[in-house]
Amino acid sequence: MPSDFLVDLFSLNAFTVIKILVWGNFLSGLFVFVFVFGGGVQGQQSAYLNFGGAKFAQSVGWILFLLMGRVPFLLSANFGVTCLLVGCYVESRSLLFAIKKMSVSFKVAYGIVFGVILIYFNFFLAFFPSRDFNIFANVLATITFLFCVPGFACLLSRKKSPLRYLIGFAYLTLLIFPLLRLFEEVLGFSFLQVPKTVVESAVFLTFLLILFVGSAGFMLIVKETNDRHILELAYLDHLTGLLNRRHFLEDGAIGFDRHLRYGASLSILFLDVDYFKKVNDRFGHAFGDEVLRDFGRILRRTVRGCDLACRWGGEEFVILLTDTTVEGARALATRIRSEVALSSFPKHLGFSYTLSIGIHAGVPNPGFGATLDSFIEKADMAMYRAKENGRDRVELYA
Ligand code: GH3
Ligand code: MG
Ligand code: MG
Repeated sequence: MPSDFLVDLFSLNAFTVIKILVWGNFLSGLFVFVFVFGGGVQGQQSAYLNFGGAKFAQSVGWILFLLMGRVPFLLSANFGVTCLLVGCYVESRSLLFAIKKMSVSFKVAYGIVFGVILIYFNFFLAFFPSRDFNIFANVLATITFLFCVPGFACLLSRKKSPLRYLIGFAYLTLLIFPLLRLFEEVLGFSFLQVPKTVVESAVFLTFLLILFVGSAGFMLIVKETNDRHILELAYLDHLTGLLNRRHFLEDGAIGFDRHLRYGASLSILFLDVDYFKKVNDRFGHAFGDEVLRDFGRILRRTVRGCDLACRWGGEEFVILLTDTTVEGARALATRIRSEVALSSFPKHLGFSYTLSIGIHAGVPNPGFGATLDSFIEKADMAMYRAKENGRDRVELYA
């Protein structure tokens, strides 16, 4: 590729870019407002409205930038820079909070840092009014900083997804041009062997990138987070984080059919906490919940990824072990019981609980009309035998 073509590719007319930013931000804001007021969002309306408002503020900021020299300096510079920075700050905050749950102290610190920057610029522009490009270069650097925060959050967030990586990298590329500018300024020579105006238009190019990545990225991240939440509500038991009964039966039926077809052994464990009513009566319902949460954690870390563990109801739990014989099921039951024996509760030191576990294992036989329900029923009967025989034990369905 001829190098003059590359230079040409980056040679944007800054004023044309700013006009695109005026219209692009305005249309993005309008798009979001129509979406929200048209009833397209269930919950989190304020997050969307903040984001849309931030887009409008940026649009106004860029208009005032274009009006510099034609309206009073205080209006174009002070008010313009304020609109632009507040818009970018609110946009980056919206993105940041969509990506990651931020602590209150972080929110306050981020707000204070931004407030100080905003006061600095307003003070500077009010008392040293000048059209020197440097102050605007600093404004651009601040905007870059504001967008790098959600960029890093995307890459560092615990919830990983290709979308998050893409948005994270897109924001961090914004750093490249301002950094190059800074190096050139400090070292006094040109890195890219291209005219300074090209580097400056590349800075503006990154603003176009923010415009596109910000709008689409915010919507998609909020949607991704909401969809995950809805799935969790539909699939998981809120107290223990295990599968709920309905979803367990749906997924379990698929696994069970596979065993019917290929004739491998599968196991069902039915687990019931012993004397749980007494736990509630003696220590209160809240502590009873704490015990169930503890048990949920134990099951989530002891059961393999390919197996299914659910809260059947109350203090009863069911586990389906694929491709597992009775020995495997027994081994797991033993592990769960020893983990439960190790549980400790700071609120009631010395408290411990036990389980009665029933197991039914075998190769489902289509000739005898074996179903998942019949397997669970047999494991439940074995669990009752464990109760009858004195609790705190494991029994097999005979
Ligand atoms: P057993 O050893 O025979 O199983 O006795 P048990 O007391 O565990 O059994 P029972 O069926 O009599 O009592 C179960 C108790 O579990 C009654 C109910 O109040 C309590 N329970 C059910 N769901 C929850 C819950 O979500 N939280 C709390 N804290 N308690 C619950
Ligand atoms: Mg029970
Ligand atoms: Mg019980």
